[in-house]
Amino acid sequence: MDPYILRCEPCRQTFDPDTHLYNCPHCSGNLDVLYDYQDLARRLRPNRITESPDGSIWRYSPLLPVDPPPGGGTPLHHVGWTPLYELPALAIRAGRSRLLVKDDGRNPTASFKDRASAVVVAHALSVGIRTIATASSGNAGAALAGMAAAAGLEAVIFVPKTAPPAKVAQLLVFGARVFLVDGTYDDAFDLTLEAAEAYGWYCRNTGYNPYTLEGKKTGALEIWEQAPGSFRPDAPPLNIFVSVGDGNIIAGIHKGFKDLLLLGWIDHIPRLYGVQAEGSAAVAEAYRDGRSEIRPVAARTLADSICVDLPRDGLRALRAATETGGAYVTVTDEEILAAIADLGSAGVFAEPAGAAAFAGLKAAVREGLVKDEDDVLVFNTGNGLKDIAAAQRAVAPAPVIEPTLQALQRILPQHVEMDNR
Ligand SMILES: *Cc1c(COP(=O)(O)O)cnc(C)c1O
Ligand SMILES: [Zn+2]
Repeated sequence: MDPYILRCEPCRQTFDPDTHLYNCPHCSGNLDVLYDYQDLARRLRPNRITESPDGSIWRYSPLLPVDPPPGGGTPLHHVGWTPLYELPALAIRAGRSRLLVKDDGRNPTASFKDRASAVVVAHALSVGIRTIATASSGNAGAALAGMAAAAGLEAVIFVPKTAPPAKVAQLLVFGARVFLVDGTYDDAFDLTLEAAEAYGWYCRNTGYNPYTLEGKKTGALEIWEQAPGSFRPDAPPLNIFVSVGDGNIIAGIHKGFKDLLLLGWIDHIPRLYGVQAEGSAAVAEAYRDGRSEIRPVAARTLADSICVDLPRDGLRALRAATETGGAYVTVTDEEILAAIADLGSAGVFAEPAGAAAFAGLKAAVREGLVKDEDDVLVFNTGNGLKDIAAAQRAVAPAPVIEPTLQALQRILPQHVEMDNR
């Protein structure tokens, strides 16, 4: 960990971390964690990170506002450093010659949110906090519950009662105190703020707690290490597709690349493309209309993880695209279901919000937003086992048959050749 200050993104006021602020007391803007980059660049060489034997986000601890959690070997110590796949057959489906997929479904609790929750839990440990609360559509809660369990802390989770059962099961299995809110994610968000204040719990809410962004930026730091060719000065910029709900993931990825730029370790930032569901597109609508103010929508999409009325990190999410030469695209629920099957055909199982990023790539290619020579990377942010009901809608059901060869032959045409003959 390195010394840092907190700075309000909209009004630029700076604060000492010891103030323990969540957001700006003057304008309620989100706070950025900023380091002394010149000093850091003098003291820190990139190989201190690239040669680290640690296969987790803690390899980046010199660039994080927390020290690695004490001990080792727990799920909290195994967040991140997820695989980056190159998938030629899937590239063709997207009309590309090359396609990278970063699979964050491979995290301890099976979503990108582990990155944020791990850093928040490490911070809580370092200042002696025992109980952490969060609102969640499911994954942020599962990540907090899992990381808190690994660290011996208490988690209190507020999720909409409509959250996919697998996510609720994870929360309960991890031993969190769970409340199923009879309302939307946004209702759960506001209730969590009030409850945390009333009971003195530390609040992890996305787009509110300043440390979630720092955890999420590790996604960008990993891409920098795993796709070094894309950062050579003469390389065309990488085009990264991320689905957007509150906007904290895309803003975090932007922050990671901005940190690398300020350190002088890269000389250009990838183009960031935000993908929203058509029915939950508050940031995409602001982008389309050229507004910098985010107006809430009445969100509706089967991709529960990106179903958000008022994105709590909308401003930074918007800038992630506008400042990098990326864009926002929207996709329908049908396109999201088709993308689950597309990714599955390449061996990657994504939940709807994860698959939305691939659907967004297809939309961007159709709209001519991506140049032919540019490389593309799609973030799968959540594992498909998180939402089986959606997965089942993405594919045709399997037939039930009697256990006889005749029954099989009635269904399977005679001319089908078996692979191994
Ligand atoms: C939370 C989440 C997102 C969206 O992240 P935001 O920070 O809310 O934009 C996307 N995909 C999955 C699987 C998620 O859990
Ligand atoms: Zn402010």
